[in-house]
Parts: sequence; structure tokens; C-alpha cells
Amino acid sequence: MVTRPREIWSNWAGSLWFLVVLLCSWGCATPYQGGPRTNAPSAAPEVWGPAVEAPETRFPAARAPESRIPTPTPAPPTPAPSARGPAKAGGTRVAEKPLDTSGLRRTTIHEVAPMESIWRIAKMYDVSEQTIYDANHLQPGEPIRIGQKLTIPNAKGLRNIVPLYPSNQWKYLVIHHTATEIGKATIIHNSHHDRGFWQGLGYHFLVDNGTLGKGDGQIEVSPRWIKQQCGAHCQAGGMNTRGIGIALVGNFNYERPTPAQIEALTYLVTLLRQYYQIPLSNVIGHRDIGSAKTDCPGRNFPWRSFTQQLRQ
Ligand SMILES: [Zn+2]
Repeated sequence: MVTRPREIWSNWAGSLWFLVVLLCSWGCATPYQGGPRTNAPSAAPEVWGPAVEAPETRFPAARAPESRIPTPTPAPPTPAPSARGPAKAGGTRVAEKPLDTSGLRRTTIHEVAPMESIWRIAKMYDVSEQTIYDANHLQPGEPIRIGQKLTIPNAKGLRNIVPLYPSNQWKYLVIHHTATEIGKATIIHNSHHDRGFWQGLGYHFLVDNGTLGKGDGQIEVSPRWIKQQCGAHCQAGGMNTRGIGIALVGNFNYERPTPAQIEALTYLVTLLRQYYQIPLSNVIGHRDIGSAKTDCPGRNFPWRSFTQQLRQ
């Protein structure tokens, strides 16, 4: 086939135009290779000062085998008449320890934490359940929700309330820090839930440091403990199924636990050790588990003095 000159020019110009468009679009699609480009997006934010460990970033991706746990106990425990004494192995017990010993009666506002009940809140502030129902225009048995603000008239201090359930499951106590400066159960519950732990808060207990409206040394009981479910705090060594996970709010790579936190932790660990017959050698830090690659509960956690207190 013969091609006339006008067609040759037309085809040549068309090819040139196509080549220009191709080069331009290729240039736009090519990733930035470096060099001066003032509006280039930065790959990652700069970190100034000490790097802050994300809260328990080394959590195992896989969820604990919660589905294999026997039927949970959704209702709050029934307090035994002799509950205020030292716990003994056997039936369900509820241990109480005053945290705020000011003894002054005052009206306070309580924000409902995960799986807290009117029964629990009444015991925490040493008031009757009916007092809370009346002050908040609630009917007995009416559900309350996480984050709900409740008026507690004539609250008498604050107590740590620790339920103890008969079980042969718990052989270890694993101590963590949250690696955050502030915290409370509700926030960590939501955070863990958002990261794929659909049962929320991965620990069994949280010991607060007095931030976000919580008491310094306040022990928050996780829904996992109330339901007697496996934790989602340490997959290494099977600790999610064998170990009770206790976290202290704080980042102990850069600070130390408060004296009230250590006092509450010592109380809680002693209580759990006695009830579940856990030897002192099985009270361990997250980092002590061979395959766990973490420095949790932090370089400044006072292990020596803590274990000395446990021996007393
Ligand atoms: Zn940890």
C-alpha cells in the first residue's frame, strides 16, 4: 500500500502527540525518587525526643482462643457474707480494700466503666444500690451503659472491689504496663476493641495512676475477669490462657509506678496468689516470658522491691 505525503505528515504528527502525552502521564505516575521537592509528602512523621512505645504494640495479632472458654458468668458475683476477710480457695469471694480513706461523705459523679454494675458501684462507694437508683432516676435492674455519668450521693471514699472465682485455670500472674502516660479501663477497652480484640480490654485487671478521673491505685476489673475469659495480653508461653494479666497505667521506660499503684498491685497479687495458690516464682513480667520480645512492664519497674514486698 502506498502512503501519500499528507498522510505521512498526519501520521507522524499524531505519533509525536501520542508520545508527548505518554511521557507526561508516565512522569506523573512515577513515584517521587528524591531530590528537592518542597511539597513532597513525608514518608513518616519525625520523632523528636525519646520514642514513645505504642500501647502494647507487640500484642499478638491472633486473638486468644476465647471461644474455647466455658460458658461465661455474665452476672456480677454474689458477695459472700464473710467477703471482707482474707480470701480462701473455694467459693466465690469478694475482697474489698479502701483506697481513699478520707472517710468524708460527699456527692460524687461516677463514670460507668466496662461491665460495671450498680452492685459493684454501690460497693465501691459504700452506699446502697437503692441510693444510686433514686439519685439517678433508675429502676432496679435497668441497664447502665459505658460512659454513663451517675450521681453517687454521700459516697464514703472509694474501695477496690476484687471478685475471686473458683478456677483451676490460673497458674501465672503476668505484670504489664500500658506504655501510656494516662489511661483508664474504658479508653483501653475501646482501643483494644478497635485493634481487633472484639472482647475489648485484653488484661484482667488495670491499676490506675490517678489520671482521667480515676483514683491513684484504683483497681479496675476487666470484663474478661468477670466472665472468667482468657486474656489478650501475652500469647507467648500460652499466658493468655494460663496467666492473669494485670496492667499498670504508665510508661515505666520513662517513669516509675506511683507508690499507690505499687501498694494496690501488691495487694492484688497477694490476694490472687493466695486464692489460686500461685507460687511467687510464677509472678512474672511480660518481658520475662522467653519468646515475648518486649521490655514491658518497662525498664524502671521496681521488680526487686516489689517482690520483696510480696515475700512479707
Ligand atoms: Zn505487656
